[in-house]
Amino acid sequence: LSKDDLILKEIPNIGFPDIGGLEDVKEEIRKAIIYPFTHKELYRMYGQKAGEGILLYGPPGCGKTMMAKAAAKECGAEFISVKTSSIVSKWVGASEKNIKQIFDTARQSERAIIFFDEIDSVAVRRSESEDYAKRVVNEMLAQMDGVDTAGDDLLVLAATNEPWSIDPALRRPGRFSKLVFIPEPDLEARAAIFDIQLKDRPIDDEVDVMALAGMTDSYSGADIASICREAADIPLGEALRGGEIRKIGMQDFATVIEKRKPSITSWYI
Ligand code: ATP
Repeated sequence: LSKDDLILKEIPNIGFPDIGGLEDVKEEIRKAIIYPFTHKELYRMYGQKAGEGILLYGPPGCGKTMMAKAAAKECGAEFISVKTSSIVSKWVGASEKNIKQIFDTARQSERAIIFFDEIDSVAVRRSESEDYAKRVVNEMLAQMDGVDTAGDDLLVLAATNEPWSIDPALRRPGRFSKLVFIPEPDLEARAAIFDIQLKDRPIDDEVDVMALAGMTDSYSGADIASICREAADIPLGEALRGGEIRKIGMQDFATVIEKRKPSITSWYI
């Protein structure tokens, strides 16, 4: 397998304005990720160590990946994303070598953010994990330990829906010592996500995003994105069947929301 099958390297096209809500998180990300890159000298002057790994956690579909991408865009970094589960399933025997390859690829960029999605697929407590997973984590930690001393413009982010299952060894200083919580969207955030998801679609004047937000308590950002797609499908389908071309109405949203359960129900214990 070539590394291109599993590593996605891109200049991201998602920025903070594309993310609805999460204003506090954006500010936290600016301080933790963007300013240390863009104001390196100031940080050094005040003796603040930059470059520690950051673990984004929270319920599924609420913007962890988007936030990591947007962080890369905001600081002009290349975004190297790795679906961690695919490393272990596809790279059996060669996992450590490929972790090294990911970091080597990143070091070739002038500035890069590496993003390990689904980190819990390897980084569970060591007593419970398989040998290959331990080797992957060990190599990841070794590479991360080397990052700061080398003076690389490189930052490692990871995401998990299961922070409680993460190996505490990963949380030591210099590793993923900083945690950033990406919560489910509140009312305001849901309205902002509807605004973003609907901005390029024809909607009726009667459509009220605040009302839609009120109808979608416990729905994730990913749920809202798909509600908007499904609502648009209703008038689209009618038009395809020869009906009149009309805008998306409040009723279309109501129909879709009624049929669909919120995905964030049991995450918070
Ligand atoms: P998972 O834990 O399942 O990997 P995640 O937290 O990484 O999910 P994302 O992949 O960032 O979630 O979000 C999934 C999709 O949901 C996005 O591509 C986007 O369409 C939509 N979405 C989620 N949160 C937001 C948000 N705050 N603003 C706008 N769109 C959002």
